[in-house]
This record gives sequence, C-alpha cells and structure tokens, in this order.
Amino acid sequence: MESPQNSLFRLLPSVHELLDRPEVQTLLQRHSRESVAEAARSVLGDLRDRIRSETVDGADLLRDVQSLDASVRAQLEDRMRPRLQRVINATGVILQTNLGRAPLSDRALEHIEEVSREYCNLEYDLDAGQRSKRDVHAEGLLLDLLRRRGAMPQVTAARQSEPKLAAAVVNNCAAATFLTLNTVAEGGEVIVSRGELVEIGGGFRVPEILAKSGATLREVGTTNKTRISDYASAVTPSTKMILRVHRSNFKIEGFTEQPSLAELVDLGRSASLPVFEDQGTGCVLDLATVGLAGESSWVGSVRAGSALVAASGDKLLGGPQCGLLVGEQRWMDLIRANPLFRALRVDKLTYAALGATLLAYLGGTEDEIPVLRMLRLSAETIQLRCDRVAEALQGAQISAGVVATRSVVGGGTTPGASVPSFAVSLLPHDGHEGALAAQLRRLPTPVVARVSEGRVLLDLRTVDPRSDETLIELLKTAVPGAGTEESLS
Ligand SMILES: *Cc1c(COP(=O)(O)O)cnc(C)c1O
Repeated sequence: MESPQNSLFRLLPSVHELLDRPEVQTLLQRHSRESVAEAARSVLGDLRDRIRSETVDGADLLRDVQSLDASVRAQLEDRMRPRLQRVINATGVILQTNLGRAPLSDRALEHIEEVSREYCNLEYDLDAGQRSKRDVHAEGLLLDLLRRRGAMPQVTAARQSEPKLAAAVVNNCAAATFLTLNTVAEGGEVIVSRGELVEIGGGFRVPEILAKSGATLREVGTTNKTRISDYASAVTPSTKMILRVHRSNFKIEGFTEQPSLAELVDLGRSASLPVFEDQGTGCVLDLATVGLAGESSWVGSVRAGSALVAASGDKLLGGPQCGLLVGEQRWMDLIRANPLFRALRVDKLTYAALGATLLAYLGGTEDEIPVLRMLRLSAETIQLRCDRVAEALQGAQISAGVVATRSVVGGGTTPGASVPSFAVSLLPHDGHEGALAAQLRRLPTPVVARVSEGRVLLDLRTVDPRSDETLIELLKTAVPGAGTEESLS
C-alpha cells in the first residue's frame, strides 16, 4: 500500500512539467532558462521538505501546487533583487556607519554618472595628450580648500621656509594611517599617548595597525594624563614619529591632561620628528555654528602644523568613503613612492564624488552636502515634518505622536555630541514596539528606526525631506487602518 506521504509527493509536478506551464514560460522572456529552472527546483524542494516533515496536508498542498507559478516568479524576483539596498534612516544618527555613513550630494551622484558612464581623464593629461596621475584632480581641490579655510601659510618671501604641502587620497582613513606609519616609521618607534590607544570601531585598533605597519609602539603617559614632558623623555635615536590620534568615539573627563597639537608640533620641530595626526572626522566647518563647540577640525590640524594629517572622506566632510592625507611635500613624496599607495588607491567613482563634494565647499554651496544640511536643520523644521507624518497615521492601530528628541552626529566623530530634534513616536496598541520596528525594517524600502521606552521613534533629521511622502506611504502599509475614513471618526 502507498504511504500517505508518497501520495502527496505524487501531487508535485516535475521541474520539466513546471517549466512547461504557460505562466512559467512567460518568465523565460526576462530570465535565463537556467535561473528559472533553479527557482523551480528550489520551490519544489521546499514543498518536498514540507511533505517529509509532515507540515502540510493534502488540501494545503493542492493549493500550493496550483500557485506554483507565482511561487517561482516570487523566488526569481527575490534572487534578482540587489542585496545592497536603499534604506530610510530614521535613527537620527547622521553618520551611521552601518547604514553607509555619509549620503552623497546630488551633484556628487551626477558627477559619478557623468564620468563613469563612458570614459574620463582619470590618468590622462588632456593638454599634453599624455599619461598623468589620478590623484592630481583631488590634490588641487584639497589644497585649495585648506588654503581657503586658512589652514595653509600664505607663501610670502618672509615665510619661504614653510614646507610645501601636498595631498593624496586612499581607500579610507584607516588605510591613510597605515600607509603613513608604514612609510615614515617602519622599523622605528612611534610615540603615542596611552590615552589615545583607541579602537575606532570595525576592528580598527591603533596598537594593531601600528604593529602591522612595522613600527614599534612607544606608549607614554597614562590613560587620563599625558604631558609634553612624557613625549620628550621618550625620544630616542630610534624614534621616527610622534602620533596623535583624535579621540573620535569616546571622551575622557575629569582629571585629565593632554598636550595641545601645537605643543607636539614644537617638540617635533626641536627633535626633528614629524608629528602625524589621525584626525578622523575630516571636519572643515566650525561646528560651533551648529551648537557643537570644541570639536576637532581637520583644517585646524593642518593649520597647527602637523607634518601629516589623515582624515575620512565620509564623516563630517560629507563625501564618499576615502582617506585624505595632507602633509609636507617631502613626506608625501615618500608615501606616494610606497608600493602600498598603489594597493590602497581609489577608483574614479570616489574621485568623482570627492571632487564634487570639495567643489561645493569651494563654491560656498555646502548646503547641498547632505551631512551638513542635516546638521544645520532646525528642530522646528523637523517638528513640522513630524506633525505631517503623525497626522497621516491617525486612525491606525497605533498611537502616532510627535516627541522632542536629540539627534547624534555619530560615525566616530563627536563623542556624545547631539543636537535637538523631533521624532514621530509610534506606540503600538499591542505593546510590541520591537516587533513594529522589525516590521518597518522589512518594508519594501526598509525603515530603520530607534526603539525607546516602549515606542518606536522616527527622527526625521536623517530622512531626506524628499522622502517624506514615501515614508508616509510605507508606514501606512505597515500599520493597518492609517488614514482610513471610518478610523478617523
Ligand atoms: C573614523 C576614524 C578612523 C577610521 O576611518 P575610516 O575612514 O573609517 O577608515 C580612523 N581614525 C580616527 C581618529 C577616526 O575617527
């Protein structure tokens, strides 16, 4: 006698039969036979597993077999979906590394398209009709920007002795730091304060980077206090460099001491040692204008006279992922000659986005850079937008309101720094705020929100206002009953 399972198995078509169905045939117009067959096998395999595990009965199975075409189509669409996808960042964290850090400006995106759809002069000198170097484009703009912001000495007869600066771009700030340590300090010692032996996140640990670069760490001072005399007494004939690492993601408060960068530069000059600052944030603006006083600035580091400064392109500068290196010509020449420089180079997409971002600063149109625009948004503007979103959700099976909150800069830039903001607050009637947040992440365009005190908070500072309508439509599909006639009564 046939087992009940066997009779269920016999309800399943073969892959061949499934491929012959007219609906499945239409899929072949847009997909290869191979991928359609693969999807068909996978859908049938799932059904077989369910029969084997006895989690399906005859009636269920018949229904599933009837809708096999649709399942194959869904499976195919799922496989063809790009894995990296757009999300709406409603966390209020402006530089959220997990969500791609700095969004790019329209101009940067247009420029990427313009130079990469066909060919570009990446390494080609159009005047001379000859090969050139890819980093000339960015170097000129970086130096112009620093000069414009007062970071560079005016070249006057009286200051002829000031070293000439050069700039280069590599894959990210971690790469810039590694490359610099390897070029300048391999086989020698690097003096660094114990208070700066940090982990930046994503596994970037200063002591480990140093070890890999071939330099030896010479730790000075203590976690909370390091004096200039600690640095001075650590200098030996093997010393190659003094390193300063910006404390991007933590603060030491209370009984603390750290020499200024200027003091380090003076010591470096008298001991003939370069000072290298891993500045990190790439901040060009004075953040005091947005209520964040006392933050480290990339321009300030260069101005203070460090021999070399490294910064990220996709933090407060607001550009693409890359590492900016600025420093005295003689060190930069050595860095460019290091084979690692070739290994860590960036592509034309990065140069295109970085160039457009730097031009926005040079042209005084920084507000087109999303990070800066978001930082400068007033809380009132955000509140009005939150009101609109909350209103559109009235009647849903959640309570939607607007609450005051604070947005953080994030991204390992300004530890603990935040600016006042507003958020749409969603209180699910079933009390499952975690489940609601998870549901928002599963929307066709995922919405990433913050969960706080039993509510889901959507801080609109980090949502492009052009996406407000999309956000409203997405939220309506997630919360049944929103904006319906009867529910408004
Ligand atoms: C963020 C940061 C880094 C790492 O920068 P990436 O561009 O992510 O490699 C290194 N140093 C400091 C001080 C930072 O703030």
